Amino acid sequence: MRGLTGFRMCIACREYGRQGEMLRIMKSGHTLILSPGRKEFGRSAYLCKSSGCVENALKRNLLKKHLKCELPEGFEDALREAVRES
Ligand SMILES: [Zn+2]
Repeated sequence: MRGLTGFRMCIACREYGRQGEMLRIMKSGHTLILSPGRKEFGRSAYLCKSSGCVENALKRNLLKKHLKCELPEGFEDALREAVRES
């Protein structure tokens, strides 16, 4: 599966999904941005748009490990909100 264009691996369940259908979390400076625009580049992590994967990632501190960055204030809630909508 490695190297397929347009597919990204979820850091929680390690399944591959289409890039456009996943949550993207990007590191920008010393903070994190949820779902940045396509023109923004930076170290990114992807998550399935499912509360299971979001909770899993939060519980295991996967974003912090993957992006080497502390989660900004309120970021967990923003992530939960993002999967609640879909
Ligand atoms: Zn997942």
